[in-house]
Amino acid sequence: MNDIADLLQPLIAFRRDIHAHPELGFAEHRTAQRIAEQLRAIGLEVHEGIGGTGIVAVLRSGDGKRTLGLRADMDALPIEEHTNAAWSSTVPGCFHGCGHDGHVAMLLGAAQVLARDPGFSGTLNFIFQPAEEGLGGARHMIEDGLFERFDCERVYALHNWPGLPAGTIATRPGAIMGAADKFKIVLEGKGGHAALPQDTPDTILAAASLVQQLNSIIGRDIPPSANAVLSVTEIAGGHAHNVLPASVRIGGTVRSFDPVVQDRIEERMRQMIKGIETSFEVRSSLEYDRYYPATINDADAAGDALDVAATVASAQLAPEPAPTSEDFSFMLQERPGAYLWLGQGRGDNPPPLHNPHYDFNDDVMETGIRLHVALARHWLQD
Ligand SMILES: [Zn+2]
Ligand SMILES: [Zn+2]
Repeated sequence: MNDIADLLQPLIAFRRDIHAHPELGFAEHRTAQRIAEQLRAIGLEVHEGIGGTGIVAVLRSGDGKRTLGLRADMDALPIEEHTNAAWSSTVPGCFHGCGHDGHVAMLLGAAQVLARDPGFSGTLNFIFQPAEEGLGGARHMIEDGLFERFDCERVYALHNWPGLPAGTIATRPGAIMGAADKFKIVLEGKGGHAALPQDTPDTILAAASLVQQLNSIIGRDIPPSANAVLSVTEIAGGHAHNVLPASVRIGGTVRSFDPVVQDRIEERMRQMIKGIETSFEVRSSLEYDRYYPATINDADAAGDALDVAATVASAQLAPEPAPTSEDFSFMLQERPGAYLWLGQGRGDNPPPLHNPHYDFNDDVMETGIRLHVALARHWLQD
């Protein structure tokens, strides 16, 4: 029995059309419109304009009380495409370099299969979110009442993963993607003659000392078993050989996988900056922006997902999290669930995500659809 065969070719054509017409975060107007049309055509209740261009389509079946959310992201990246595919981007400097076109097509395919033959009892919400690439579209949907309006006891999302062989599905309990923070520090003195250091706080020396101290946080203030990175990536101040500058600016990023570790890093950074104020007689300011939290899978949801994945493909416990980040993390802060990697690698050295030669592998679309369908039927069992 193949309940997907007749859907695949139209879905691949749909994916390639979305690929040819990419749209950046919060500007997914055409994409969202095309998705909504397809969802209405199969009889789903479609809600548009959630958190910007987000869509939720609801499928109810039977009288079951259980609820589930399945999420796909819709946005493209500001990168010039170099794949030479017949369906290459028609928009200069913009392309689906992260495979969100494939995510959209797989979730739409699951909606088509389940609308035809639900095989579950309960309420299933198909969530199409805007602006995953750095703009926090998931957070915008949540702030717009996503989970108040559409009850989801659990949420799942898939991301294609070029580093895994096609047809392999992997996930893990706990952290699967990193938290991404950025910081900006300004040290201020008053500026003055370099030959009269006794009159002018030295913001350059203060900055040099602070950079050294910041680089000791990962080595000295968190346990060796906790993975984290702190990189100072910007330092700017001064313009003349005989002037002590009035201010120096320092910027950088922190990546971590555990909120406790993340808190400790920020706390130590604040303490060190206060110490610099005292020892160098400067004033300071710190902007510490936690723009994406770590993506933390619920252990039961991840375990269930691996069991379900084994029924449709080869399932694998991912040995460690990826240091990149993902805004599905915001949904996982609100509801238990899991983020899954769908292997899509071709050959020995497939282009990674965000590479100009990357393209979603249509050969894995069927596996992705079957995984969504199986997750829904498992959680929303009769
Ligand atoms: Zn991406
Ligand atoms: Zn992505």
